[in-house]
Amino acid sequence: MRTLLLLLLLAVVCLFGWMIAKSQSDQDAPIVTASVYYLGNTIEAFDSNAWRLPSTDAFTFRLQSNEATEFSLNYGGETLKKVSRKFDVPLKALIGQNTIEVLAEDRNGNQESYSYSLAGLPAVMPLIQTPADVIPGDAFSINIASPPALYGVDSSSVEAKLLGKDLTLFDNTLASPPQISALAVLPLGTGSGEYPIEITMTDVFGRVTKAEQVVRLLTTTQTLQNIDLPADLLSIRNLENQLLEADVVSRAIESSPHKATPLWTEAFIRPIEGATSSGFGIPRQYGAGGEISFHTGTDIVAPEGTAIRATNDGVVMVSGYYPIKGGFIMIDHGASVQSLYFHQTEGLLVREGMRVKRGDLIGKVGSTGLSTGPHLHWEIRINNQPTEASNWVDKTLP
Ligand SMILES: [Zn+2]
Repeated sequence: MRTLLLLLLLAVVCLFGWMIAKSQSDQDAPIVTASVYYLGNTIEAFDSNAWRLPSTDAFTFRLQSNEATEFSLNYGGETLKKVSRKFDVPLKALIGQNTIEVLAEDRNGNQESYSYSLAGLPAVMPLIQTPADVIPGDAFSINIASPPALYGVDSSSVEAKLLGKDLTLFDNTLASPPQISALAVLPLGTGSGEYPIEITMTDVFGRVTKAEQVVRLLTTTQTLQNIDLPADLLSIRNLENQLLEADVVSRAIESSPHKATPLWTEAFIRPIEGATSSGFGIPRQYGAGGEISFHTGTDIVAPEGTAIRATNDGVVMVSGYYPIKGGFIMIDHGASVQSLYFHQTEGLLVREGMRVKRGDLIGKVGSTGLSTGPHLHWEIRINNQPTEASNWVDKTLP
């Protein structure tokens, strides 16, 4: 009986001893976390255990373990070792997708391997596509190939200049594959020659690359059109009225909330059927000796009351009666594109702020304002700069 008790006690002691021993012997591999430091800052992983860095630049790869660890790190064929809880490894970002393989082993021989992915990105040049030749007033697209998503570049990281002015860039989802685009025009009256488009792109690391593309402007001589108007009609075209109307248009364009977003997805249409009585870009003189101006739109003749349709989707930005333009509607198509419709009859059919779809009825042909007979003066502008509207018809982008 006594022996049995002693044996039982011994068994209990052994069990406790084994349990204590087991709790002390470490069977868990080191738990390692990694972080990346570049120019003194932590770089956030863009994916789990994946980072991007400017290639050939130096960075620090930091490994931290929950216990004393023998680290063995392999990157680009080189192996680096250290025994510690923390291992700061100075490295240089290799070009392309590479992995950092890490083997972590504790004193008791417990091992765990880790794999990290590192994209070393060389600076990328903007790839620009434009037409080689244009004529004054012809709208054209400037397309910049989107660099891989890793560069974090979109339309907000690109600047484009033509004639010293900033162009509006937008993320062009109308193109496939998507591009960064701008719409441009060399205005009527611009002399022939070569005009550079300057592109500046800033990537996610703040690296700036610049590129330039030249477009050649070809000009033709056009016959001056003399316009004889009765004095009372011509008096409408005074400086005060011109400034008033220009101000209404430019204010509306400046306050557009859709400057960098196309609101359309399909091709542009002609707003009415009919013969063109006066084409775009024709130099005009109101009375002998008067100043020469260009016709900024296309005049289409149609009977009074003919339905006028929106040339594409957009938002009505101006709807009202003005001395020269008469019954006037301007539609904001986004991406700094506007369409304008002059001389409409009483009863404009859309109000400011209304959304319109391509082909929607917006008004009716009339002869209000500076007009001698029923017709529609139709324009498409890029950032308030008149363009040849007919060139947009049947195209999603010029
Ligand atoms: Zn006109």
